[in-house]
Amino acid sequence: MTLATELRRGPGIDVKDGRIDLLRWPLLKRILTHRAFQFALILPTLFFFVLIILTGLFGTPVGNANFAIISVWIVWWALLIMLLIPLGGRLWCTMCPIPAVGEWVQRRSVVSASGRRPLSLGWEWPKPLRNIWVQNFAFLAVAAFSVIILTRPLVTGALLLGFMLVALGLFLLYQRRAFCRYVCPVSGFIGLYSGVAPLELRAADPDVCLAHCGTRAKECIKGSAQGFGCPWMEYPGTLDRNAYCGLCSECLKTCPQANLGLYLRPFGADLAVPKRRLDEAYKGFIMLTAAVFYSVVMLGPWGQIKDWANLGDGELLPFLGYVALMAAFTLVLVPGVFYAASWLAKRLSAARGVSVRRLFVAFAYTTVPLGLAAWIAFSLSFLFTNGSYVLPVLSDPFGWGWNLFGTANHEWTPYMPQLLPYLQVPVLAVGLALSVVLGHQIARENISDHARARRSVIPVAALLTLLTLGLLWLYIG
Ligand code: SF4
Ligand code: SF4
Repeated sequence: MTLATELRRGPGIDVKDGRIDLLRWPLLKRILTHRAFQFALILPTLFFFVLIILTGLFGTPVGNANFAIISVWIVWWALLIMLLIPLGGRLWCTMCPIPAVGEWVQRRSVVSASGRRPLSLGWEWPKPLRNIWVQNFAFLAVAAFSVIILTRPLVTGALLLGFMLVALGLFLLYQRRAFCRYVCPVSGFIGLYSGVAPLELRAADPDVCLAHCGTRAKECIKGSAQGFGCPWMEYPGTLDRNAYCGLCSECLKTCPQANLGLYLRPFGADLAVPKRRLDEAYKGFIMLTAAVFYSVVMLGPWGQIKDWANLGDGELLPFLGYVALMAAFTLVLVPGVFYAASWLAKRLSAARGVSVRRLFVAFAYTTVPLGLAAWIAFSLSFLFTNGSYVLPVLSDPFGWGWNLFGTANHEWTPYMPQLLPYLQVPVLAVGLALSVVLGHQIARENISDHARARRSVIPVAALLTLLTLGLLWLYIG
């Protein structure tokens, strides 16, 4: 079949259980199962990544005139939080350049599934760390230094280079993508929020996987001549959430039963899966609190706080105070308030057989829709206010006086600030509504009686509403 015929055929739409298997479109299947698919996506991002490191390390120290700052913290961040995660889940991880070099070195191959012995000591990741706690603390560390990172190109360049080197080191020591699965600070929140996306990779028929597993071949785990075993150390046959599938497409290539599909599905389907974990619960708190902190520091009227967070005048004490405050809010105060709300939920519902701790961990997932909405609302402000810096840095990425595309002298101007509230208010309202609906679903997961379950959501819903009102006040005054 020619390419033109395949394009004309388009996707064969076959809705099953409310899902559409995109692989029924032969062209897409051919692309995704091609060995060079991931490489083709990584190549351009790797080019920009190297440029970002070079401009960060050697370009002008003026943040808004440096390609590294503008492309990472305005363009990439906005794309990630507003489009890639809400629509594609972990799609960023398919094209991420950070682990690319390490993975190629470990595999001794860039594209082909060579079957060579991996260049790695092949250690197993320590059992106590097989969770996202390392990612939680790594994200918190980056968040604490975020104003410094966001304003100093040298720090951004060094940080990204550091990520790549740490990833390379871990590829040489540990099996597969231990860095992505357990360490990368970006991975934890992409994983948690990827449950919102209307896209999932799943087994078409889990029973086929079960029967095939009995043959001990397990190509999707061990790899074959067609592809590598799951780099994220998942068993694709039982995937029921997006959280730890990096959408690398290897299992689409290795599965001899062609039993894996890439599905379009309703938004937020994963959030209803009753797998609740404390490390993920904390990720939810960290993300929601960080969104509030960023909004206060970068958009709020308190320049003094921004100075503390930015190590203004080199004063260490106020900066340490700021870091301590952030840690206290994210790790103690916000979870503490949620714990109190869960305690109240238990009292109000008089539910038996369910502990406060269990309710606390489960209700923590209500921070996901609102947290993502808060990040989108924050990023809208950031993008509209600073988006006009993109054109000058494209022409003069290092800030050395170049004018490659004739746009170097484009003036800074905020884009349509009057439009912002009309976007931020609905985004936050939808986030809050989805969080409350999810809260009710979670209550039903734990409390069988309808009326009791409804009562138990009241404290968490009130808490989320208060938070939303606070954010609205920050954004639109
Ligand atoms: S987990 Fe991190 S390093 Fe790995 S692919 Fe995703 S964003 Fe990139
Ligand atoms: S489950 Fe499949 S697509 Fe997802 S990370 Fe593993 S091999 Fe890649």
